[in-house]
Amino acid sequence: MHEALFYQTLENKTIRCDLCPNVCFISPNKYGICKIRKNENGILYAETYGKISAAHFDPVEKKPLYHFHSGKKIFSIGSVGCNLKCLFCQNSEISQRSALEYENLYHHSVKEIVELATKRSDNIGIAYTYNEPTVNFEFVLDTAKMAKTKNLKNVVVSNGYINEKPLLEMLEVCDAFNIDLKSFSDDFYKQITFSKLENVKNTLKTIRKSKKHLEITCLIIPTLNDDEKVFEEMSQWISAELGNKTVLHISRYFPRYKMNIPETPIPTLLKLYEIASKYLKFVYLGNTLLNKGNDTTCDKCGKIAISREGYSTYLSGITVQGNCQFCGNKIVEY
Ligand code: SF4
Repeated sequence: MHEALFYQTLENKTIRCDLCPNVCFISPNKYGICKIRKNENGILYAETYGKISAAHFDPVEKKPLYHFHSGKKIFSIGSVGCNLKCLFCQNSEISQRSALEYENLYHHSVKEIVELATKRSDNIGIAYTYNEPTVNFEFVLDTAKMAKTKNLKNVVVSNGYINEKPLLEMLEVCDAFNIDLKSFSDDFYKQITFSKLENVKNTLKTIRKSKKHLEITCLIIPTLNDDEKVFEEMSQWISAELGNKTVLHISRYFPRYKMNIPETPIPTLLKLYEIASKYLKFVYLGNTLLNKGNDTTCDKCGKIAISREGYSTYLSGITVQGNCQFCGNKIVEY
C-alpha cells in the first residue's frame, strides 16, 4: 500500500487528514469519509494507489472541455471513491464505493499508465476523471509528473473540494481543469452534497490565478438548484471573479443514486442558458440532444468557429493554433 500525503499523526495514533476540507480525524483501522484513505497503526495509506476502474481514449469534449485541444483524444482513467456524498451522484457505482466494495479494479503502475497514453499519436495526454481524482491524489500526482516528462497534458475533472496546499501541488503539473460548481447556495451544498460552497469557490479562484485552463460544469436538478435568481448570481460571480470568457457547461441531470426527482426539463435548461449568456461568452448545454448550446461562436466576430454533434467536432472555423479562422481571435488552447 502507498503512504498518503498531507496528514498528521496525533495522540493515540489518530490521524488528521488535510487533503480536503472535510479534514477527517481517523482512528486506527478506520477510513476517512472518502472510504479511500486508511489509518493503519498511525500511518495514512492511499488505498487506491495504482487501482484503476476504467481507462478509455475519450474525445476531450467528453470531459467536458470545449476550449482545450478541441477535436483531440485524451486517455482517461478513473478509480473509485469520492469525498462528497451528493444525493444525486451520476456515477455512484464507482464514486460511492471503496476499493474493497468494487471488484473490477485493475492494477497499473504509473509507468504503465503513461506508456498506454503514448500509444496513440492523436492522444494529447491523461485525464483523471470518472470518480473524484483528488482522493487518489498521490497516484494522480505521480502519474502527472511522469506524463509531463513525455510532453503529455494532464487534465483533472473534479468537484473542486480540495485544500489549497495540495491543489497548488497539482497545479504545478496539471494543465486543465473541469470543476463542478453544483449550485450557488450554501444550503444546497450543505444539505445535498454535505460540503461547503466556499471551498469550491476558493478552488476556482486559485485555478484561475494559476492561469491553467479552467472550465466549469453545473448539473441542474429541478427544484433544487434551478432557481433563476441564484443561477444569475452564480453567472455574475463567475464573470466578475473568474472572467467573462470562463467556459460554463450547463448539464442535464437524470435520476440516479438517492435522487428520484425526474430529469431536468429542456425549457429549464434553455432559460438558464439564456441567463448565463448575459454574463459569459462561452456557455454550453450538456447531456441533451438539442441543437442549441453545442457550437463555439467567436466572441469577437460572431462566426461559428467550432460546430459539434454529439462528440463529433468540426473545426472548420478555427486555425491549428486555436484562433478564429475569420478574425484571428484566440478561442481554443492548443
Ligand atoms: S481526503 Fe478523504 S480522508 Fe482526507 S479529509 Fe478528505 S474525505 Fe477525509
